[in-house]
Amino acid sequence: MIDIRNVSKWYGPFQVLTDCSATVKKGEVVVVCGPSGSGKSTLIKTVNALEPFQKGDIVVDGTSIADSKTNLPKLRSRVGMVFQHFELFPHLTVRENLTLAQVKVLARGKEEAQVRGLKMLDRVGLMAHKDKYPGQLSGGQQQRVAIARALSMDPIVMLFDEPTSALDPEMVGEVLDVMVKLAGEGMTMMCVTHEMGFARKVSHRIIFMDEGKIVEDCSRDDFFGRPEARVPRAKEFLSKIL
Ligand code: ADP
Ligand code: MG
Repeated sequence: MIDIRNVSKWYGPFQVLTDCSATVKKGEVVVVCGPSGSGKSTLIKTVNALEPFQKGDIVVDGTSIADSKTNLPKLRSRVGMVFQHFELFPHLTVRENLTLAQVKVLARGKEEAQVRGLKMLDRVGLMAHKDKYPGQLSGGQQQRVAIARALSMDPIVMLFDEPTSALDPEMVGEVLDVMVKLAGEGMTMMCVTHEMGFARKVSHRIIFMDEGKIVEDCSRDDFFGRPEARVPRAKEFLSKIL
């Protein structure tokens, strides 16, 4: 579903990604972790064509991002993205937040978009809040709405960039529960997260990044089961967060 091929990226003279390669198969859940500043957000944004790169290619469901003929907005509309900060429109109700992009980007009728949006809202357990404004919801609820909004677009894959790291601790669980449910339903997911309980429970593979490079890409069982086999940076990182 996602094939990252030898991607390198620079911000001016600073190389932020160095020869990154990885794949995410259909139905697979891949967790990306690593120290702050290692390039995790940049990598995940390149998959969504939100960040350009200078070398390599990323093929999403058969469509090449580097190919100048590719319709990037169309590709982007099929890749769901959930950020650390929920980025809901504060002046729109939950229901309006859920329908806007469907109408604008997918050209769905209002009625159809509402039905779809509310179905996804139900899936994240927030139907009762459909007419509230984001400011009337807790951080965890807002993040669940952001997930429902992404799901309303019928994504072929979901990308998450530290979706729980801006939340108060007591709200982390409700967001992870939604992600666990999604994974269980077979959604293809690439998740930047340091929630190792989540990684242990649902991920198939774990990618560890350091200084712009993918320094490890291994099965969950290897990652957690054989800590002694990890590269030194990953071992050190794991010992700090586990
Ligand atoms: P992570 O998500 O792993 O913390 P990021 O992908 O956000 O890492 O950042 C990787 C590196 O790129 C960091 O050193 C960061 O300072 C740098 N960086 C990120 N965005 C920009 C930018 N727009 N311009 C210049 N440098 C950037
Ligand atoms: Mg980041």
